[in-house]
Amino acid sequence: METVYLSLGSNEGDRRANIAAAVAELGKVKGIEITSISSIYNAAPIGMKEDTAPFLNCVAALRTTLDPLELLDRLEGVELALGRHSKGLYTDRPIDIDILLYGGRIVALPRLSVPHPRMAQRRFVLEPLAEIAPQVLHPVLKRTSSALNALTADQQVTREGLAHA
Ligand code: ADP
Ligand code: MG
Repeated sequence: METVYLSLGSNEGDRRANIAAAVAELGKVKGIEITSISSIYNAAPIGMKEDTAPFLNCVAALRTTLDPLELLDRLEGVELALGRHSKGLYTDRPIDIDILLYGGRIVALPRLSVPHPRMAQRRFVLEPLAEIAPQVLHPVLKRTSSALNALTADQQVTREGLAHA
């Protein structure tokens, strides 16, 4: 069993409902047990076109028996089930699910980089991660989520409330 942290983001359709539906779908996957979910946060899009809709984001903690690539396959299945039409494009999406941390493992494969390569620069990831796991260590940077989050205070992220509120 490994403890995994996922980032869930939506900027299309009913964003809160999309995140709730993704969490519900994840909970049905054999080999995944969701252990906690952060509040939902609102963030301006980063690295996307200027007219891109704003994202809602949250972080989920789970325990899993799936290996990293099996987990990625399952996450892609949930994205597709929720109507995600394109991959690899910086575009609107009903749901984007990324693996932030997989235990203390470092994965460097063409399909999968863990820790997620951009997590340490993104307050919309670090703020919810630090909410549910302030002491979790980034295995490359060897700093806690809370310490990394303190370095992103210049980015605007607001707490919108609980995932299921
Ligand atoms: P992004 O999440 O960067 O906005 P996509 O969701 O379209 O973009 O993902 C692009 C590709 O990133 C996926 O096809 C997946 O194979 C790859 N990828 C690499 N590392 C990860 C990770 N840690 N979590 C999720 N996808 C990843
Ligand atoms: Mg993604």
